[in-house]
Amino acid sequence: MGELQQSPWQLQNEFRQSLLSAPQIPLHPAAWMCRWLTGSCQCLACWIEVNLAVSCKIWSCLILTRPSPCCCRNYLFVVLHIALQAAVYAEYTWEVFVYCWELEFHLVLLLLPYLLLLGNMGCFILCSCANPGIITKSNHASLMKTYAYDGALFQEGIVCATCNVEKPARSKHCSFCDVCVHRFDHHCVWVNNCIGAFNAKYFFLYLFTLTVMAATIAIITAAFLIQVVLLSNMMHGSYIDDQGQEHAVEIFFLIQHLFLTFPRIVFMLGFVILLTLILGAYCCFNIYLALTNQTFNEWYKFRRYRHSHHLTLQPCDRKVVYKNAYAKGVWMNLKEIFKSPAVLERKKKK
Ligand SMILES: [Zn+2]
Ligand SMILES: [Zn+2]
Repeated sequence: MGELQQSPWQLQNEFRQSLLSAPQIPLHPAAWMCRWLTGSCQCLACWIEVNLAVSCKIWSCLILTRPSPCCCRNYLFVVLHIALQAAVYAEYTWEVFVYCWELEFHLVLLLLPYLLLLGNMGCFILCSCANPGIITKSNHASLMKTYAYDGALFQEGIVCATCNVEKPARSKHCSFCDVCVHRFDHHCVWVNNCIGAFNAKYFFLYLFTLTVMAATIAIITAAFLIQVVLLSNMMHGSYIDDQGQEHAVEIFFLIQHLFLTFPRIVFMLGFVILLTLILGAYCCFNIYLALTNQTFNEWYKFRRYRHSHHLTLQPCDRKVVYKNAYAKGVWMNLKEIFKSPAVLERKKKK
């Protein structure tokens, strides 16, 4: 029972270490399977038999807690992100911009999406290339002092099984990047980097510019279609249906007509409206996290912590009191995103 309380990653590390020290024997199909699952296995049939108990325990833990043991960064979502952005901008430039220019829309308004794109690309590059706050041997001592352990979400003395260092409060090991990150928020597949103490500000600006960009394109495109409807005086017209009956133009007919006349523009408008709603909601959630000085990891951990305590408490005690130890008031919380205490500490030392 005591052994089962080890985290799956601790067990996996222990397993990997013993695999690396094993003698070289030709690979068995089971060993190939194991290599595929662990990513670093050099094991052997006879050796697996000896270690079967350990590996069964690892995989039962992994299946229960982490269904996908994939631990590598890949550029799939970055490519998808760039392709979608390129498709929207190509359509905007090719059709919407030209039509709006002919309809005498203000040039500054038409150029605004390009300015936002430049800002967004800058934030994207900074966010994906910047060090999110990787904990190394040289900065470990100073990062240990940055935040105090709250005793609930972050306990003192927990050692990262992979990096083999004591985890500073608010840090987490990222299984994609395979490093421990200071003030870990989450691993973002769209920028292919971790979001931590040092690049949270770039991520915040990246998300904000992306939301404004989608909203601006949606507004300009919608304004263009409304202008087309008004100029054609379509709303006051009528149409004859398949049965030969005459009807006044209603909204459904109008959308159908616009879709048949400008299919790509209407499709793009639907996409950017959906994107604006999703990004807007996510942006609001991130503002809430910033104002309350929580990372996404802490928000998620707190929910799990509360749930596990509800299960262990008696019905009369069912009230978990947790006070966010890192909140310092709205203004200071917001300031912490743009001026991380660890960065200030580093500057002071210089
Ligand atoms: Zn680590
Ligand atoms: Zn990561």
